[in-house]
Amino acid sequence: MDKTLVLKPGREKSLLRRHPWIFSGAVDRVAGRPGPGETVAVAAAGGTVLGLAAYSPHSQIRARMWTFTLAGEVDADFFRDRIETALATRRTWGEQPEPAGLRLVHAENDGLPGLIVDRYADFLVCQFLTAGVEAWRQVIVEILVELTGCRGVYERSDAEVRAKEGLEPRTGLLAGQEPPELIEICEGDCRFLVDVRQGHKTGFYLDQRENLAEAACLAPGREVLNCFSYTGGFGIAALKGGAARVVQLDSSGPSLALAARHGELNALDPGRLEHVEGDAFAVLREYRRQGRAFDLVVLDPPKFVEGRQNLNRAARGYKDINLQAFGLIRPGGLLLTFSCSGLLEADLFQKIVADAALDAGRQARIIGRLGQAADHPIALNFPEGSYLKGLVCAVE
Ligand code: SAH
Repeated sequence: MDKTLVLKPGREKSLLRRHPWIFSGAVDRVAGRPGPGETVAVAAAGGTVLGLAAYSPHSQIRARMWTFTLAGEVDADFFRDRIETALATRRTWGEQPEPAGLRLVHAENDGLPGLIVDRYADFLVCQFLTAGVEAWRQVIVEILVELTGCRGVYERSDAEVRAKEGLEPRTGLLAGQEPPELIEICEGDCRFLVDVRQGHKTGFYLDQRENLAEAACLAPGREVLNCFSYTGGFGIAALKGGAARVVQLDSSGPSLALAARHGELNALDPGRLEHVEGDAFAVLREYRRQGRAFDLVVLDPPKFVEGRQNLNRAARGYKDINLQAFGLIRPGGLLLTFSCSGLLEADLFQKIVADAALDAGRQARIIGRLGQAADHPIALNFPEGSYLKGLVCAVE
């Protein structure tokens, strides 16, 4: 191959462990002037070729490995093969209740750096987040249509990370029919409506599927406060699971409006559901002043950690919100607390929650550890694939 990226001496170590990222600081030189997303051969300083990668000239992550061999090319068959493997993995879990919401492709963890594909009923929603998959976008869409038989493919490449790749945000129809305004899916026993155009990410937090089921198990008879509720997932699951009452709290009015519709869709008693629009940090403080208390508090805040430089500030945010929550839980109650910041490691998150309990003057024990749903797999060669962690704490 005439386009080759040559690494600095010793910088092939992570590649030999099959980690797919090559940082700019590891690159000695690039021969052949590859353009954004073009396939390059990757060679160690001594000349040994290690595999093929997608070149990304604007990103700190200068290239991402497609393969760790030189056998075969990066072409339509390569993508068909990777996508077939991803679909086959999801089939091994058995039939999903239909209409399903399911992540079909989880980027690096499915061997396709930067590609997210979520299925909502008969429609697919894609994110092309790196120069590599951007270059193969048309090919990938055609393969997805062929392999899934979906009715339409919609693009939500409006995630901020695209800017780091030098790519503009882009959304719109890619193939087939326009999806309806809201797509109905079921998650466990619950039904939800997904707004694939305006919703967060591709429309729904599919990564919480198994944790919604956990919340339902813990809910019977309990008074529940669901903070950062978005469209109500945990609150709906808890009420369906037998909670006595649920407060859905979020700063977004439109998200709460959809949460309220989810109450109706699931035939839940509106008298047992309350929707509160506000800043969780302020509302929880106000509830403490009022002496309110709950038996189960769910905390699923947005990603507070944007980069290593704001890790300390983010840690303070997690500590504060957990501290406020501990202060609202009745003796014998439960805290279900999450962090979806990949840069915040599980051990540190646990320490933050421990500090919060200490400062709140509460004794608590971890009785469960939660993570991301199975359709968001974590490739063993890509520890960054693990981002969502949760603790179930029993509070004395
Ligand atoms: N638990 C949800 C996902 C939560 S996403 C689910 O499973 O579907 C995070 C949510 O936090 C978003 O809906 C966002 O509107 C909300 N949010 C962000 N900052 C907030 C704040 N300070 N107070 C209350 N809600 C906030």
